[in-house]
Amino acid sequence: MAERIITTGAPPADLYRIIAENVCDGVLYVGLGDTCQYASPSVEEIIGRSPGSMIGVGLLSIIHPEDLPEVERHCIELLERRRDRFTIEFRAQHSNGRWVWLEASARAVPDGDKRSAVTSVRDIRWRKQLEDQLLEALNEAEEKAQALERLANSDPLTGLANRRRFMIELEKAARRASTLAICDIDHFKVINDQHGHQAGDEALRGFAAAAQASFPDALVARIGGEEFAVLMTDTPVEDSVARCDAFLAGLARDGCTLPSGERLALTASIGIAATPCLDASELMQRADRLLYAAKRTGRNRVACEQPEEQRAVA
Ligand code: GH3
Ligand code: MG
Ligand code: MG
Repeated sequence: MAERIITTGAPPADLYRIIAENVCDGVLYVGLGDTCQYASPSVEEIIGRSPGSMIGVGLLSIIHPEDLPEVERHCIELLERRRDRFTIEFRAQHSNGRWVWLEASARAVPDGDKRSAVTSVRDIRWRKQLEDQLLEALNEAEEKAQALERLANSDPLTGLANRRRFMIELEKAARRASTLAICDIDHFKVINDQHGHQAGDEALRGFAAAAQASFPDALVARIGGEEFAVLMTDTPVEDSVARCDAFLAGLARDGCTLPSGERLALTASIGIAATPCLDASELMQRADRLLYAAKRTGRNRVACEQPEEQRAVA
């Protein structure tokens, strides 16, 4: 890479001085590593230090410790001729003690057999403030989007996935080896009628927690009033049936305890259908049909397709 040469061409020396002393950016001539040999008057407007007081100052000494390693790395690369120029942002200490964000552009100039640098610096604190505000606004927007996403995908009463989210996942799972179990609480209306709607809500929460605990690796959702669904992927049908049987046995044994301490008897019926299937809604229809078969034949039980009922590979 060719070194830049400072020419002594046409413009008179006065013109260089007029330019250096009136340019809006601060201009520094930095020799022997980081020692300031010249600072233009506008440096004082930027960091409150007079040009005279800058002479002989090691510039790295006024750079914020967090920004220092990066600035040092650039300076070393310039000195070692691995680059000829760089632009970098960092904080420098103002004479009032505050940190000021600056952008500096340094360019190497030959200095005997070594290198010095002509550096222009500008105050970028407003830009940094705008960047910070923008970042904050982006983070807030991201948090709001996540909250909206949660609202759109979850059931507010139980915290489980809602029907919308469940159908999206079921559509994906319909192409894999998956089992769908639809659970409907038995005679739930009686709980509402006998204990009140609030107790009914508590029972729904209790049921949701028990289902989530019983199927920790499955997607459990509330897909209707007292209707829940469990999606088990990569689980053979007979395992899914056994897990549903165990869940119902636990539910019939423990029921659900209200915050008042009162214990409610609770049972549910389950219909199970498995892939292959045409699509998610066909799988839902099959599981629903079996759920009502479980209701018809006495409730508190699991109904699943007999092997001859299962679909041929779709
Ligand atoms: P089955 O065994 O045939 O399923 O009888 P069931 O009483 O469970 O079914 P039915 O459809 O007759 O009644 C369901 C009840 O669930 C009626 C409705 O008021 C109640 N329900 C639906 N959503 C909520 C809810 O969010 N909170 C409460 N407390 N009750 C609800
Ligand atoms: Mg019911
Ligand atoms: Mg129902």
